[in-house]
Amino acid sequence: MSQSETRATALALYPEDSREAAALLKQAVPLMVRHNIPPNPVHYALWYTYSKGQEPELNRQLERVVKDFDCFPPESASKLFRDYIIRDELEDARAGQQQAINLVDDMARDLSRSVNGSVSFQASLGHCLEMLAEPADQMLPLILSELQQSTQVMQDQQALFLSQLHSAQNEIKSLRNKLERAQLAATLDGLTKVLNRATFTRLLERALCNAPDGVALVMLDIDHFKQFNDQYGHPLGDRVLEHVGQVLRNSLPAQALAARYGGEEFCVILQNCPDTTIAHTFAEQLRLKIQSLRIKARGTDEVLDTVTASFGVALAKTGDTVESLLIRADDALYRAKRNGRNRVN
Ligand code: GH3
Ligand code: MG
Ligand code: MG
Repeated sequence: MSQSETRATALALYPEDSREAAALLKQAVPLMVRHNIPPNPVHYALWYTYSKGQEPELNRQLERVVKDFDCFPPESASKLFRDYIIRDELEDARAGQQQAINLVDDMARDLSRSVNGSVSFQASLGHCLEMLAEPADQMLPLILSELQQSTQVMQDQQALFLSQLHSAQNEIKSLRNKLERAQLAATLDGLTKVLNRATFTRLLERALCNAPDGVALVMLDIDHFKQFNDQYGHPLGDRVLEHVGQVLRNSLPAQALAARYGGEEFCVILQNCPDTTIAHTFAEQLRLKIQSLRIKARGTDEVLDTVTASFGVALAKTGDTVESLLIRADDALYRAKRNGRNRVN
């Protein structure tokens, strides 16, 4: 996983910085204590999200559950976690959850075996004590052998339980990886591996909210792409989009985000960008990189063609919304197209 991909997941799912996260946790923990909720990762995630307050329906449901029950039923926690923390559309996550449920079932079964083992151990100790009332020289070998057998049973059950615990640890690790991959996939565009439009809109909204003055938007659109598809076919067109996505991912300065806005249109959000010159220089570098891509026939070194893109740049100002900023970037892009394409405006 590249650095920019990791950054994309973290930003999209739990974007709070450590101070904000600590503040949220400080709100969540007393709530959990007040409602006597066991501290486990599922409960933390639920009550952390509750404290964020961005899922009003989750908050209503959590409030209802703690009001209706003295305890927090595990099945309610699982359902809320599935519905609000890892969404239903994450197939991998759902499969992972099923595995986790199976795992917990297995562990519960083994635990109950272990409990039964200690019950029978206790019974056999009782039996041994009764036998001790008899003359010791006759009963001692019997007593020792009974104790030895029941100790062996306990040991076997504990060894089994321990090995189950180890495999549970490994499975949890692999489930966590699967979940991370699924969460990442839900924020990215499958073809170009930059953010998808929904994530882009959400993050641009947040960036404008946090520090509108430092945000710049660079919008780019591949020139005459329809013609390219018509001439070389859609699959090669797709490869061009993949390459452009790669150029963007490899060119991002700190805190910048790249997204596929639509078919052959991309956007870059620049943060901490005080003036348009910086944004224009960045866009100009991208333009040159895209222009220098050599589109080759698959599996050969034969260069078939090159592509260019046109750019529109807009600097956010106080009061801008996602829509107003996009409109200005789009207008600038339109002017770049009208003035001859392969340029920054
Ligand atoms: P302009 O320079 O004015 O932008 O011309 P254009 O041909 O690039 O623009 P137009 O909007 O007419 O065409 C965009 C094309 O992008 C049409 C569509 O087939 C192509 N396209 C959109 N999404 C994809 C995709 O996922 N893969 C491929 N191969 N082509 C796509
Ligand atoms: Mg277009
Ligand atoms: Mg185009």
